[in-house]
Amino acid sequence: RRTKALAARSGPGVTRDGTEIALLANIGGVEDAVAAGALDLEGVGLFRTEFVFLSAAKAPTVAEQTEIYRRVFEPFGERRVVVRTLDAGADKPLAFADLGPEENPALGRRGLRLSAERPELLDAQLEALAVAARETGADVRVMAPMVATAEEAAWFARRVRENGLPKAGVMIEVPGAALRASDVLGEVDFGSLGTNDLAQYTMAADRMQGALSDLLDPWQPAVLDVIAAACEGADRAERPMGVCGESAGDPLLALVLVGLGASSLSMAPSKVPVVRFALSVHSLAECQELAVVAREARTAQEALQRVRDRADRQL
Ligand code: PEP
Ligand code: MG
Repeated sequence: RRTKALAARSGPGVTRDGTEIALLANIGGVEDAVAAGALDLEGVGLFRTEFVFLSAAKAPTVAEQTEIYRRVFEPFGERRVVVRTLDAGADKPLAFADLGPEENPALGRRGLRLSAERPELLDAQLEALAVAARETGADVRVMAPMVATAEEAAWFARRVRENGLPKAGVMIEVPGAALRASDVLGEVDFGSLGTNDLAQYTMAADRMQGALSDLLDPWQPAVLDVIAAACEGADRAERPMGVCGESAGDPLLALVLVGLGASSLSMAPSKVPVVRFALSVHSLAECQELAVVAREARTAQEALQRVRDRADRQL
């Protein structure tokens, strides 16, 4: 018993019956990377590169970016680092990637849509990432934000490969992409659910509006249904699907996400120990049962309550 309890508190993420679920960090720059790299976790599941350039007036050069990415990758040795290309626009405006005012920025030219209009920005970033990956030997995988269609995924994957990077993925945070995940993921190597935006777009509730937090709750049964559809699509396309929204750091919801089919969880590094523990005391079948129970609920509160009642008492 003692060995098992110890195992639950360190090492890679694994369910009680041995299903491996990588536990990864969400980071926003060099300082975060140095801190997370020193921790017992399996790498990075979301590096929000736009955070590095929030105060930059001019587009960073390839050389400037290479230096930053090298310092981000180094602390992780050979562990994986999933890098998200610039997610500019809406709640994260960048001075050098501003396409002018929009009526509805969250529904506008943000994320990959902005990259499509300014491909030179994307290519400079991909070039810098490729050089930094080569120099450090890190397991770098690149993914695009705000992908809505399979064509967009294909366009992104081509550019990633043209720059000599081995693995391309997409964030699944638009309900349209989630519902057609098998087509979208068929064009790339992996998917990662961005549950913050997925909840915003599924419930038509601006994530910047605190007054709408009940609608933005990832326990909303409709959000769970969209996540389930996305995971089923990933399964059909035989591609791994992770989660990198804040929901992955909630231990009860993490169990549900694994039950729905998520194969990795990326979160604020401080959440990793409690999520590791939660996984270690539940089997995959129990996670799947929790997912069914959550989706049978009619409200977000009820979904949470049902899972809390059924999950291990220690949580
Ligand atoms: C998300 O949308 O869930 C996500 C992980 O990305 P961000 O919060 O940076 O939009
Ligand atoms: Mg997002």
